[in-house]
Amino acid sequence: MENIAPALLEWFYKNQRILPFRTDPSPYHVWLSEIMLQQTRVSAALPYYERFLAALPDIPALAACEEEKLHKLWEGLGYYNRARKAQESARVIAARGGVWPDTVEGLLALPGIGDYTAGAIASISFGLAVPAVDGNVLRVFSRLYNDPGVITEPAVKRAFTARVMEHQPPEKAGDYNQALMELGALVCVPNGAPLCEQCPLASLCEARRAGTALELPHKAAPKARRIEPVTVVLAEDAEERFLLQQRPQKGLLAGLWQPLLWEGEALSAEEVCARLEALGLACEGIEPLPAAKHIFSHVEWHMTGYRVRLRHEIPKSYIAAAKEELKTIYALPNAFGRYTKMIE
Ligand code: SF4
Repeated sequence: MENIAPALLEWFYKNQRILPFRTDPSPYHVWLSEIMLQQTRVSAALPYYERFLAALPDIPALAACEEEKLHKLWEGLGYYNRARKAQESARVIAARGGVWPDTVEGLLALPGIGDYTAGAIASISFGLAVPAVDGNVLRVFSRLYNDPGVITEPAVKRAFTARVMEHQPPEKAGDYNQALMELGALVCVPNGAPLCEQCPLASLCEARRAGTALELPHKAAPKARRIEPVTVVLAEDAEERFLLQQRPQKGLLAGLWQPLLWEGEALSAEEVCARLEALGLACEGIEPLPAAKHIFSHVEWHMTGYRVRLRHEIPKSYIAAAKEELKTIYALPNAFGRYTKMIE
């Protein structure tokens, strides 16, 4: 395999998408974009990225941001733990006088930053000749070499990373890394057939020659997700305020707001009213809502929903949120999207 960099870079300079974090690749911008793009498509993440930067333009602003505001800015992106870790990192950097670590090891020591993000910041923002290997890059190399290695295995990933580095021009490390990611995102795509006729590496590609591109890369079979029944209750008082709970600070959707919820149980209407009575909340009326499902990485919530009219005002010992406050103050995770839409 000859050096792929010249053809790849030429293609990248002509075809790369103009993205705000490419126009100004400061470490803050590259870092934020990489965090947001984990599990999220570029087109979906861009409006969040721009809104987030407008509200929190730099490290001191993110470090000082109140939790509710941070959750609100992240609302819709999911994986709130990423926002929390980002703020922890911002506080570490702020405590260093706003100076970023400029080595991969220093970046890896920041909360929530793994190999890929550290490599992206170090190569794109600081110009260091280091790898930034994500799923896109692994897919391209798996096909380019027609390599059946299982890319979810650490040893295979290390071997692929070594190959990526064999081709990296040290003076253009950031562009080369981005070009590989871009090729994987736009041409050597994950779903459906790769667009080989548009690929600058087509003449070198062994999977294309062998007709195996669609079968690659090989991955370990995902673990089966646990199915968990959950009962969601939109409990509303006569003032049209909804009862909210805050989730525990650790675990799934840590620290976020939710409607009344019972995990592990699909309750009947009678059982819900009995549970509410036990909490000192009398049920005036109850209607079933459509079932809903939310898929997390390791668990699926199968939700049974109810809307309840409470006989009395929500007691002061609970959080009661008016409809407007649900939009402006309290960030409810996407998991409840089907039900929160009904409130609106
Ligand atoms: Fe991917 Fe096709 Fe390019 Fe090979 S030729 S790297 S399979 S897009």
